[in-house]
Amino acid sequence: MSSRTLDQFLSENLDDLKSKGLYNVIDPLQSPNGPMITISGKELINLSSNNYLGLATDQRLIDAAVAAAQKYGVGAGAVRTINGTLELHVRLEEKIASFKQTEAAIAYQSGFNCNMAAISAVMDKEDAILSDELNHASIIDGCRLSRAQIIRFNHSDIDDLRQKAKEAKESGKYKKLMVITDGVFSMDGDIAKLPEIVEVAEEFDLMTYVDDAHGSGVLGKGAGTVKHFGLSDKVDFQIGTLSKAIGVVGGYVAGRQQLIDWLKVRSRPFLFSTALTPADVAACITAIDILQNSTELHDKLWANGDYLKKGLKALGFNIGESETPITPCIIGDEQQTQQFSKRLYEEGVYAKAIVFPTVAKGTGRVRNMPTAAHTTEMLDRALSIYEKVGKEMGLLK
Ligand code: PMP
Repeated sequence: MSSRTLDQFLSENLDDLKSKGLYNVIDPLQSPNGPMITISGKELINLSSNNYLGLATDQRLIDAAVAAAQKYGVGAGAVRTINGTLELHVRLEEKIASFKQTEAAIAYQSGFNCNMAAISAVMDKEDAILSDELNHASIIDGCRLSRAQIIRFNHSDIDDLRQKAKEAKESGKYKKLMVITDGVFSMDGDIAKLPEIVEVAEEFDLMTYVDDAHGSGVLGKGAGTVKHFGLSDKVDFQIGTLSKAIGVVGGYVAGRQQLIDWLKVRSRPFLFSTALTPADVAACITAIDILQNSTELHDKLWANGDYLKKGLKALGFNIGESETPITPCIIGDEQQTQQFSKRLYEEGVYAKAIVFPTVAKGTGRVRNMPTAAHTTEMLDRALSIYEKVGKEMGLLK
């Protein structure tokens, strides 16, 4: 028998979401998540995946995954600290450290897990965290879990960060202070002002924590935002995901040996959740190998990003201030943004609408994620659909 309280809670809240048009209906793919996808039998140009380099469907990764599953089976069988650490996990961590130019690295089951793990392993209720107001949900949850005081600063506003860091330091209330930022902000495609953040961190003795989920594989010739700015020895925690540019699943922290040693004994998802599967790990190792040996995919991603941006701008769309291949197409009104995305879908482009509360009210946008795997022909077709729908809806002259 189900609880009446639960039933009431669920139906009230589900009805509320549905009535506001905020209930997200999930469309399962009938194809790989590549540059073209199939949903309900319909073929669409895919501009909504984080598979930046097209590696999710790369044959070299698939072969590595199959070989690892044949050799080690499909599951790691235990948490890392019992006997779930395969030699493959160690190789992956060494590979990540060399990719990020740090002393060591630790892998987790996801980027989300990684932020839950790392922040709370180091920070606690006597500490404070300065967090960019647009940081990812997993950073927010990781901060909450740590029980540290969370001090939000205005997005990429260095004066606000400096002022708040100064107040926190001078209050004498906190034992440790940390500043956390995304490397690349995924809704607008802007890059964190890391050199200035590091300067403030040095001035007020803040630990530095950069979640580079959207920068790895994309900036710094692939090595990420920290490398892009030449700050590898100035950032304490370099966080990344293995699910976006790397194309598989998992997350990691790269940093000094002592930090990684500590996370291995104190971060709870490492201690209490089963390790990544052999196939995932082998595919990740192969992906990083590819990135270390060639910038071809990285260069293609940027070329495609620039092509799409130029095309949308020439049509007259507002594409915001993105500094990366992430290309928002800002429509403004929430209903109109949803309608625009729906019409794109009907015409053959999958580009999700992103509206309040994910972004500020009145800044609804269709977000485009071009990848290295798109062909010019696909992008041209997407642009002509954008033009058709934009004119039809009166968004373009
Ligand atoms: N951090 C940021 C900045 C992200 O954008 C995401 C993914 N949406 C994550 C962490 C979580 O990564 P994962 O999907 O690997 O859990």
